[in-house]
Parts: sequence; structure tokens; C-alpha cells
Amino acid sequence: MNSFKTIGIIGGGQLGQMMAIAAIYMGHKVITLDPASDCPASRVSEVIVAPYDDVEALGQLAARCDVLTYEFENVDADGLDAVVSAGQLPQGTDLLRISQNRIFEKDFLANKAGVAVAPYKVVSSSLDLEGLDHSKTYVLKTATGGYDGHGQKVIRSADDMAEASQLANSAECVLEEFVTFDLEISVIVSGNGKDVTVFPVQENIHRNNILSKTIVPARISEQLAEKAKSMAVQIAKKLELSGTLCVEMFATADDIIVNEIAPRPHNSGHYSIEACDFSQFDTHILGVLGQPLPKIKLHAPAVMLNVLGQHVQQAIDYVAQNPSAHLHMYGKLEAKHNRKMGHVTVFAEDADEVEEFGEGVEY
Ligand code: AMP
Repeated sequence: MNSFKTIGIIGGGQLGQMMAIAAIYMGHKVITLDPASDCPASRVSEVIVAPYDDVEALGQLAARCDVLTYEFENVDADGLDAVVSAGQLPQGTDLLRISQNRIFEKDFLANKAGVAVAPYKVVSSSLDLEGLDHSKTYVLKTATGGYDGHGQKVIRSADDMAEASQLANSAECVLEEFVTFDLEISVIVSGNGKDVTVFPVQENIHRNNILSKTIVPARISEQLAEKAKSMAVQIAKKLELSGTLCVEMFATADDIIVNEIAPRPHNSGHYSIEACDFSQFDTHILGVLGQPLPKIKLHAPAVMLNVLGQHVQQAIDYVAQNPSAHLHMYGKLEAKHNRKMGHVTVFAEDADEVEEFGEGVEY
């Protein structure tokens, strides 16, 4: 039996590219579907150039591949259901539907997986915001389509209600209590449909709602780290997970609260390429192929810095001065402001000594 497969990846951005590289190392062939012929994955795979919701193109990809996977959650779930054969999409489309809609996601996390989330309610219109207790702070988030802080409104006082009502009347929303957290953390977990393997806890620092720096292991107590990992495992088991999933959480002084899940490798797990014995992309490929999963070992504490469009020169200078830092560039042609162009991973005992890229940062 030929154990080398043709893997179809929906989405050819940096996540698709790094998935493809992992798969190619293992001897598999990769075909990607992406609207851009020069997408990052085009450097390492054949690309079917088409929109993600082009059912005919999805069908073409399905016909040519043994197994399909996706690099992001905004894929047309119904379109995929229409073209895949039984077992061809191990991650399934239920997981897509859960992570595409915050209402389904919260319900799954709180009521099915049984993990702690911020107290929340579903908001169908501004009427559901009436009588809000303004002694508390809230975050109103659109159920679908939000990313990197878009489609969100923090409600700190009655002054914020006009904008919040406008948002609530424009789309279905979730209203969450604002969590006073010490740190934002995330945990990568991978499954093969039966077993799961979990990565160390990551500490994430965002700037303008975009991930800037990830520190591993997160600077939280051993007890909280174990709790975070076991919550990620609990979620993965409930999903009978295949492939890699990222669970984003808040660490408060004495507890862990789950914010959201991303059903794919995640920016906060990129450090695993060098800092762990298997990367989140390796375990994603092993997982979707239903192969046994390794226990993950962190070689040494590490820091990952994102390289946005405005940071490219800074990153090039940084690695010239720090040759043991690992520079990854995704091959995007245009370095637009805030566009993720690459990342740098560096081993560091003291994470504070590794400064983020950004205007005015000395290094
Ligand atoms: P999200 O789109 O849910 O990942 O939210 C984007 C960012 O908003 C998070 O990374 C947090 O920094 C912040 N945030 C979201 N929800 C909450 C909450 N309930 N309490 C406090 N901060 C939040």
C-alpha cells in the first residue's frame, strides 16, 4: 500500500505554505487551492487558482487528492460537504461551522466541552442591550466575520451604547463580560481522530489586535499551565479532533478562561518549528492522515516575533546581528502595512531581552 498521499490544502497563505513544507518532508505531494497564483504556498506546491467558495474548483481539488485540509476557518462548509467523499476531510465541516460563528463556538465550549468562558449572552438586536449593568465592562462581538478585533465594541459606560447599539442592529452578536486578565495565552493541540498531543503553553502579546510576540513557556504557574493544557485536551477530545487546533485563553490571577478556538495551525505556534521536536504543522499532517502522534518536547525557552510589512528591514538587520535567530519569510511580494510577511524565532532564557519589532524599538 502506498502510504504517501496527495494532500489538498484549501488556502495557500503562510499557514498553507508551512503545512505543505511539513507534508513534503514526509514524502507527500501537495496541491493548494487559492485565489492568488503567487500565494506563499505556490513556492512549494501546485496551485489551483480559484476563490475558496468555488465549488467546481473544490471538486477538482477533491478529485485529485487523497485527503483535504484547510488553513483557515472561513471556508464554505456547505460547498466542501458537497464535494468531499467519506473520510476525505478528517477535520470535518462541523468544526468549521463551530469556529465560524461565535454563538455556536461559545455554546460548544461552555455547554458541550464544559470549559470556562466569560459570561455571555446572544444579542439579536439593540433591544437585547437594554438595561445593561454599567458597573461592569463588556465586549460586544459580531457572531460571524470578525477578525483581529474587527466587528467588536468594548462597552465601558453608557457613552459607548450608541456605537454598540449600531453594531447590535447590524449583525447578530455575542455580548461577553470583559475579563481582567494577567496574560493572553494559547495552547496548540493536535489529534488523529483517536489520540491527542499537546504543546507547551504560549504567552501572546498583541499590538493593535495583531499578534506581535509569543513567549514559550508562558510565564504562568505550573498549576495554571497544566490546567490550560488539560482544557485544550478536553476540547480536542470532545471534538474527536483530527489535525491541529489552537485554543486561545485568558490567564487571570488564579484561573483560565477560554476565549476562542482556531481549527488549524496558529501564528502563536510557529515557534514549534525550531523549538519543539515536532512542529504544529508536522502534527497537523500526521493528525489528518490518522497517523500516531508524538509526545511534544520543548527543546528550550523560545520567543517568536512577527514580521509585519513595516518591520521587514528591522527583521533582516536583527538576524544579521543575531545569527542564531531563525528568520522565516513567507514570500509575499508586497510588504503592506500590518501584513504578516514572516516571523523570527529565537531561543531566549529571558524573554524580556527579545524586543518586538516596531517603530522606535531599539535592538
Ligand atoms: P477575539 O477576536 O475574540 O480574539 O478578541 C480580540 C482581542 O480582544 C483578544 O485578543 C483580547 O485581547 C480582547 N478580548 C476579547 N474578548 C475579551 C474579553 N471578554 N475580555 C477582555 N478582553 C477581550
